[in-house]
Amino acid sequence: GSGGRGKADLQRSRMRLSLQEHLWAFFHEKVAIPSKEQAVARRAALDICAELRVFIHAKLPDMPLREMFLSGSLYDDLQVVTADHAQLMVPMILEKNLWSSIPGEDTIMNIPGFWLVRRENLEYFPRGSSYWDRCMVGGYLSPKSVLEVFEKLVAGSINWPAIGSVLDYVIRPVVPSETLTLEVQYDTDRHLYVDFLPLLVMEDGVSLIAKPHRLAADRHENLWRQSFRVAETTKLRALDQEDGGCRCACLKVIKAVCKLNPALVRLNASHHTNAILLLSEQERDWTQEALADRFLHLLRSLVGHLEAGRLPCTLNPKVNLLCELTEQEIDELGYTLYCALSDPESLMRT
Ligand code: GDP
Repeated sequence: GSGGRGKADLQRSRMRLSLQEHLWAFFHEKVAIPSKEQAVARRAALDICAELRVFIHAKLPDMPLREMFLSGSLYDDLQVVTADHAQLMVPMILEKNLWSSIPGEDTIMNIPGFWLVRRENLEYFPRGSSYWDRCMVGGYLSPKSVLEVFEKLVAGSINWPAIGSVLDYVIRPVVPSETLTLEVQYDTDRHLYVDFLPLLVMEDGVSLIAKPHRLAADRHENLWRQSFRVAETTKLRALDQEDGGCRCACLKVIKAVCKLNPALVRLNASHHTNAILLLSEQERDWTQEALADRFLHLLRSLVGHLEAGRLPCTLNPKVNLLCELTEQEIDELGYTLYCALSDPESLMRT
């Protein structure tokens, strides 16, 4: 009867209340990084960036680059648990008439979200006319080859021990690494990983980064990855600003949960940001009091996306953000999150 329903509702709302309390406690104790720690990490990244600028300008004055800059969650106040990583963006200058970009869906690989960068006008401007021709493979600009150029430079010819001792850090290139990464030890027990990320900003405003496709077969080697990060985080923040919402807090909680649970590390910030943006289209109430409801909602929607094998990027729905996970990984992630639906607090016991 209705009495039973009322009791169940009451019980459910008690559970919600305690989940709400748990989430905020977890947020303050584990997720949020003290601002002092963030500042020290940013300082270390900035010092390294400054050294690299000086070195590259001196050693390769004709390499066409724009000023390198730091970016990532450490700079957007979206980093969680520990201040331990940042990206050093390296914007490359390409001659407009010599290079053009082709969307992945228009190539035989048919992968939306990835692009080829083709060398044009070779008959009038022969090989060597563009500085970046040295990184051309089969008529295309190869991100792998670009990374190798920087790797030789950054890992091979910079005296990091000397620079480190001046700056009072221990700096060493991480080998092997998927991209090019520097490990900076800036305190006895504090490590910061700085990823070196070559960047192309194409004429139509498309940003491409030299970060390989995770399941890269040889035929994927020439693909550049389109970056939606700036646009998607800006969108999320703008929505929160409009209604004083808890989307960023919800993002930080789920990021921390995934960072602390080995079974969930394959889910990244972009998966979560887009899942929350998609939820925001259906759900209006993002008040701080609704965090528990929205968090459960997010877990359910992630399970749904994983079951369907599809999580569209809100900025280009043709892009499936799960395309770099294997079927088995998708199954395992889905199973872990599905189990957590009945005991969400288990996700915070780490
Ligand atoms: P977090 O690493 O989970 O805290 O999330 P971030 O929001 O900092 O995302 C960093 C990840 O996004 C790295 O793996 C980058 O390789 C990738 N990424 C893709 N596009 C960009 C970009 O435009 N800037 C930065 N900084 N990272 C990007």
